Amino acid sequence: LAVPLVRVRRAGAVREISALLLVPGDVALVEAGNFISADGRVVESAGLQVQESALTGESEPILKVAEDEVFRGTFVTAGRGEAVVTATGMRTELGRIATMIQKVKTTVTPLQKRLDHLARRLAAAALALVGVIFLLGLWRGDELRLLFLTAVSIGVAAVPEGLPAVVTIALALGAQRMLRRKVLIRKLSAVETLGSVSVICTDKTGTLTENRMTVEVLQAPDGGAEFGVMLAGAALCSDVAGAVGDPTEIAMVAAAEKAGFLKAELDRAMPRVAEVGFSSERKRMTTVHRKPVEAGVLIAAAGGAEYLVCTKGAVDGLLGLSVAVWVGGKAEPMSGEWRDRLAKQNAALAARGMRVLAVAFRGVDSLEAMDEFEQGLTFAGMVGIADPLRAEAAGAMDKCRAAGIRPVMITGDHPLTAASIGAQLGLDTRRVVTGAELEKMSVAELEGIVGTVQVYARVSPEHKLKIVTALQARGAVVAMTGDGVNDAPALRKADIGVAMGKSGTDVAKEAADMVLLDDSFASIVAAVGEGRAIYDNIRKFIRYILATNSGEIWVMVIAPFLGMPLPLLPLQILWMNLVTDGLPALALGVEPAEADTMQRAPVDAAESVFARGLGRHVIWVGLLMTLLSLGVGYWYFRAGDPKWQTLLFTTMTFAQMAHIMAIRSERRWLFEVGLFSNLPLLGAVALTVGLQFALVYVPFLQGIFKTRALGFGEVGLAVGLSLVLFFAVEAEKKLRG
Ligand code: ATP
Repeated sequence: LAVPLVRVRRAGAVREISALLLVPGDVALVEAGNFISADGRVVESAGLQVQESALTGESEPILKVAEDEVFRGTFVTAGRGEAVVTATGMRTELGRIATMIQKVKTTVTPLQKRLDHLARRLAAAALALVGVIFLLGLWRGDELRLLFLTAVSIGVAAVPEGLPAVVTIALALGAQRMLRRKVLIRKLSAVETLGSVSVICTDKTGTLTENRMTVEVLQAPDGGAEFGVMLAGAALCSDVAGAVGDPTEIAMVAAAEKAGFLKAELDRAMPRVAEVGFSSERKRMTTVHRKPVEAGVLIAAAGGAEYLVCTKGAVDGLLGLSVAVWVGGKAEPMSGEWRDRLAKQNAALAARGMRVLAVAFRGVDSLEAMDEFEQGLTFAGMVGIADPLRAEAAGAMDKCRAAGIRPVMITGDHPLTAASIGAQLGLDTRRVVTGAELEKMSVAELEGIVGTVQVYARVSPEHKLKIVTALQARGAVVAMTGDGVNDAPALRKADIGVAMGKSGTDVAKEAADMVLLDDSFASIVAAVGEGRAIYDNIRKFIRYILATNSGEIWVMVIAPFLGMPLPLLPLQILWMNLVTDGLPALALGVEPAEADTMQRAPVDAAESVFARGLGRHVIWVGLLMTLLSLGVGYWYFRAGDPKWQTLLFTTMTFAQMAHIMAIRSERRWLFEVGLFSNLPLLGAVALTVGLQFALVYVPFLQGIFKTRALGFGEVGLAVGLSLVLFFAVEAEKKLRG
């Protein structure tokens, strides 16, 4: 799923194939944001710039012209080009040094780090405890061999050896569940960080909208119905091959074709001789074409000149570059009046939530002064492009708000377009901040507003980085989406970098922590829900295992003071740790998300494992378990009943099962959650109880575990006592409110 797709020309048609299927001789089409997936020789270059730091360490992009070599592992930062594949796989330059590159990096999540720390401390405490018990036993004159075994068993009881494994399994299962929700996790740590996300910054196009663009309005400067030059210019100034390309351009080319201007014919009549590709920073694109020999609308536009320059892009930008307006088949000087009129047309379309693009042109005689092409243009008109909101977007926004997460929309489009779309999604559009405003703000000013502003417009990728940085400075945990090459720094900086699976560039995906396979905002929200559920489950597991272990330790430590011999045999303790700690605890990892997972505020990323009453819970539940099991054991012991140890052991095991059933939900009681809503857990508990009965009644096992058959009333007693624990834990939820 993480292998990039490559556009190749095969049998005369352009197709997208997996990079794995490239073969020498393929002609690959690359553009800004693509990874180079094989070594090759450039055959065509339109300002093709490649960043080769993976091989050379040099981060400055290098201009590649025809006959230059390009290498696998590098990526295109600007321009467009074609290259013939010369080597693939291990035969590439990168393949040769693969051993140096493919260093295995394991990521340890913050939680895993915290748990490692916890485990080390527990181990130290256990060691100390074991020493004390050992010495106590010596002093009482216990048998050395038994004493040694006991000390070791307590050590085993104290260390939650399953913890790291279960945490990793929970994270990995979570990543798998997310994949079903169209979210590909690239870094395991993202699963858990997701649970703490407090702000989601999202692009508009494609994430909140469908990226299914259609030209809805054609707007000639004079309001008339003459669009020939504009449409033909737009078709020429687009990189659409068949149905492959940028949706904005596909829409414009389709509109042109509907009016009879076929792109293929135009391209043939007026071959492209130079170009400056689209970038989110400039928000426009320019191509230069040779003048046609036959008559056509564009002959008039080019006038007497040799070449025709076509520019399309954001209206505000193009207005500033235009000195004339194309009306009634000729150029009129751009007066202040025209300027106002065009700006109003732009605003009117943008206010309807449309993306507005203008087309402008000029004739030039030589290709020398390329830098000056985008000046002195003639404004040909504009189009309003509609892009429907995704059906699930508004619902996902509501979910976000309910979950205490602030959604923020960041778009390259016009502020009015942004405001219109934002309002439809229920975002606060009272203040829309533009990239230009953002640039003028000081860091402090920016930090002052990021807490409330929900819509940013006319933003360039570098502004995204500023926004993330400011949000993080205010303590937010930020998820940020991106698709372009230049979004990579912001994606890296964000706590969760989110790349688009369909429209995203390889570079953005590489920088991201997760990839949205369906590009949808709703999937981010779903992933946050999963992340929260996983963190909850890990906490439940810790809650269960630490309470259980502390109960066992207390029993071992207190019993000698009551004048009792070893209350639990080493084998019995090992049994509890392997069977009762193992399977049921693993099954907690698949506990379904609680109903209110997305109705509460995100957890603080810095909070301790023991936060929110977990530490207290572990202590009192451990003590209650001790009181119940040691209590009943002591009572039978005092009465001289030889079954005292079996009863103590069985009560302990049952109490642990009662505990795990009670902590399935942190807030609701078991029968609200549904007894059967986690069948693996129910199965594990049933199996454990069954095995415990086998230990108590099967003669062979009785011999190994030194147990005696319990009477009906005694089993009832063990069950009853564990129910006491069950209801006590349930009552704790009510008391906590
Ligand atoms: P969003 O954040 O909503 O996903 P974006 O930041 O990706 O949007 P861009 O694609 O950078 O937005 O577009 C910004 C502006 O650039 C648009 O409003 C439009 O005016 C202009 N534009 C977009 N695509 C093209 C294109 N192919 N050619 C020329 N100009 C374009």
